[in-house]
Amino acid sequence: MSNVLIVAEHGAGAIRKATLHALAAGQEIARRTGGQVHAALLGKGLGPLAADLAAYGVEVHVADAPVLERPLAEAFAPVLADLAKAIGATHVGAAATAFGKDVLPRVAARLEAGMATEVLGFGGDGANVTFRRPMWAGNVLAEVEIATAVKVFTVRTTEFAPAQRAAAPGAVHAVAVSIDPAALRTRHAGFREVKSERPELTEARVVVAGGRGTKGDFAPIEALADALGAAVGASRAAVDAGWVPNDWQVGQTGKVVAPELYVAAGISGAIQHLAGMKGSKVIVAVNKDPDAPIFQFADYGLVADLFQALPALTAKVKAEK
Ligand SMILES: Cc1cc2nc3c(=O)[nH]c(=O)nc-3n(C[C@H](O)[C@H](O)[C@H](O)COP(=O)(O)OP(=O)(O)OC[C@H]3O[C@@H](n4cnc5c(N)ncnc54)[C@H](O)[C@@H]3O)c2cc1C
Repeated sequence: MSNVLIVAEHGAGAIRKATLHALAAGQEIARRTGGQVHAALLGKGLGPLAADLAAYGVEVHVADAPVLERPLAEAFAPVLADLAKAIGATHVGAAATAFGKDVLPRVAARLEAGMATEVLGFGGDGANVTFRRPMWAGNVLAEVEIATAVKVFTVRTTEFAPAQRAAAPGAVHAVAVSIDPAALRTRHAGFREVKSERPELTEARVVVAGGRGTKGDFAPIEALADALGAAVGASRAAVDAGWVPNDWQVGQTGKVVAPELYVAAGISGAIQHLAGMKGSKVIVAVNKDPDAPIFQFADYGLVADLFQALPALTAKVKAEK
């Protein structure tokens, strides 16, 4: 038996899009191993979410209990590890989101499994499926083999097209939960959601990002973003200066994005920034220094002052609408 267990993520009453990318990764492993894809859905009051997930043709295991209301890794990990054992999972994975990065290492520890993080693709087949992952800010791509019987992984959602609904839904199974809430050493203290009219950075089709060249004035960046219906991103220099919130940061220590269009204005193109956006389909750079490294990666480069070029672009976009 060589089953793949994908840990689903949900929020605001819906399965998160990241999970569909992780399911697609799971399906690719299953094709290589000849196994089946299962999904784990944990939470409280999950209602129709199990059926939503089963629509992708995977067997869904639902653990619905008050102790799982919040995604506490300490409570989720034992449920997932026991489930992985029960279904004979050889591969356990999730999207490399904040949730996946938090929960999966604990699952790996419980299963005494090796783990590959931020996986971009797979190689090999049977028991020898390998994991391709970035190292050194994406400058090296490693092909990793995991020697333990069970292999745990997280995937970069930008590298896998989302799973498609199947003709026939998978079965749904209930999982018994026997966690004593009083025994947990972590507790959920609160959750403050960032509310924005703009699309989520990692899911946006277009991203307009600003860097130190904005000198803290993101108005031209935001105006172009809003004209294009885009998300706003930033370099770490802009975030570290306190000009913009840190959930806007794109790069090695920020978010990884791969939109159809990425506009980088006043960003030099340091490798740590490129690590987060070089998978974008079309890259447009606006920088007043013709030697800025970003121009080596840009499909379209504009040597210009962003405070002149961006308002002109914004006006043009609005005029075309
Ligand atoms: C471990 C580590 C992790 C890191 N992680 C990240 C990360 O996740 N994301 C990230 O972005 N960085 C990261 N960095 C930092 C990275 O090395 C760079 O310092 C940072 O990306 C630089 O940001 P910048 O391009 O905005 O600033 P700068 O490099 O200072 O570039 C500013 C650019 O703006 C241009 N400019 C100035 N004025 C104008 C104008 N009026 N119009 C047009 N252009 C103008 C300049 O010509 C210049 O090219 C990391 C560094 C380390 C060591």
